[in-house]
Amino acid sequence: MIKVARVLPESVASELEIVPGTTLRSVNGRKLDDFLDWEFLTADDELVLEATAPDGEELVFEIERPEGMPMGIVLEPPRVRRCANKCEFCFIEGLPAGLRSPLYVRDDDYRLSFAYGNFATLSNVKDRDIARILEYRLSPLYVSVHATPFEARKILLNNPKVPDVMRQLTQLADGGIQFHCQMVIVPGLNDGEILEQSFADLYSLGESVISTAIVPVGLTQFSHLYTGKSMNSARAGELLAQVERWEERALRERGDRWVFGSDELYLLAGRALPDADHYGDFVQIENGVGSVAHLRRRVSEGVSSLPRHDGRRIGVVTGVAMGGAMMAELLEQLEAATGASFEQIVAENSLFGPTTTAAGLLVGADITRVLAGRTDLDVALIPAETINDDGLFLDDLSFATLRGESPIPLIPSYDFLDVLSSEDLSSAPPQLQALGIA
Ligand code: SF4
Repeated sequence: MIKVARVLPESVASELEIVPGTTLRSVNGRKLDDFLDWEFLTADDELVLEATAPDGEELVFEIERPEGMPMGIVLEPPRVRRCANKCEFCFIEGLPAGLRSPLYVRDDDYRLSFAYGNFATLSNVKDRDIARILEYRLSPLYVSVHATPFEARKILLNNPKVPDVMRQLTQLADGGIQFHCQMVIVPGLNDGEILEQSFADLYSLGESVISTAIVPVGLTQFSHLYTGKSMNSARAGELLAQVERWEERALRERGDRWVFGSDELYLLAGRALPDADHYGDFVQIENGVGSVAHLRRRVSEGVSSLPRHDGRRIGVVTGVAMGGAMMAELLEQLEAATGASFEQIVAENSLFGPTTTAAGLLVGADITRVLAGRTDLDVALIPAETINDDGLFLDDLSFATLRGESPIPLIPSYDFLDVLSSEDLSSAPPQLQALGIA
């Protein structure tokens, strides 16, 4: 059952006077269970829609959609499928107590994997879901494989009932579905021989596995389930060597790298990050694979078109991982092009602890702390990834509050260019403007 949240103007739904709160029951006799049914079953231009108005009136619409006219219905958010696993390395297990409740929700939803690129383990996928994925051709899917050997995966996901992922992937691949896979590596659990077998199994699926990302386990000071060995520089180096052997093989045999180490893996191993060409189309950038190379490319390609900001003093707040030489190299380019002086302000993560170094996981309190008393700056850029769609940081502080209390302007930025391209340094990224956050 799905419900209408909003009706857009100049759409089929507005012409039919469908109102928010209406329950959409079926299309052409097919029951509507969720947004996927809605999206796929309303692809036709001629359809019969059965619905129930908020006052209980039963409605039947016979629709002939004019070419190009959208249905114009925004649905209420789907009920997210919960995760049945209890992974040793789960980020949610590593969250401190007392944060807002949605942060503790473990989703594992193949529908969101297709729609938004969220990784899903497919552990809760039943035969009817497989049939649905095949019918609607939900491809590519983003799959958290972690390990293909059955026994190793049960241990990793801490779930004795986990299905055999290779059986699932093979069935889906036979039906034309493709995948981007990830494996979070916990030393002693799924590295070494297990990883070698996992690479071999995924590689055997041919073109169906478009890419595979290898991500070192990340633990916060609150992680309490961990039973393996910690990831250190030597282990990260061994892992990277294994990744590179498979990269070379894939390049030789398939013409693309197929497997990528995450940025964090290179940093842990003390290795220089590859340049942007290494990552092709940056297919796993949301997974921290190639993010730094992408930012470097953005800056070097966009810097020449920036306006001058001579004499302006700009602070750039970042996390420990990106701070130091990597950030300095970017800021030098920006300084040369704009005439502004830049200062990197590196913040440690007070909520998750010093082992959590990503800029995107900084919280409002960290930003407040490192900028306290910095009235010598004209403006401070903060990582836009730290703010969610409701304008909140992970510690529930709101960006509006922080900005209101700050003695200097605070501007969220994804890539510097989004802010520095405006003459007066006042414009925030369009994504945040659209949400009314900045
Ligand atoms: S699959 Fe594992 S890591 Fe992902 S939400 Fe579930 S328990 Fe956490």
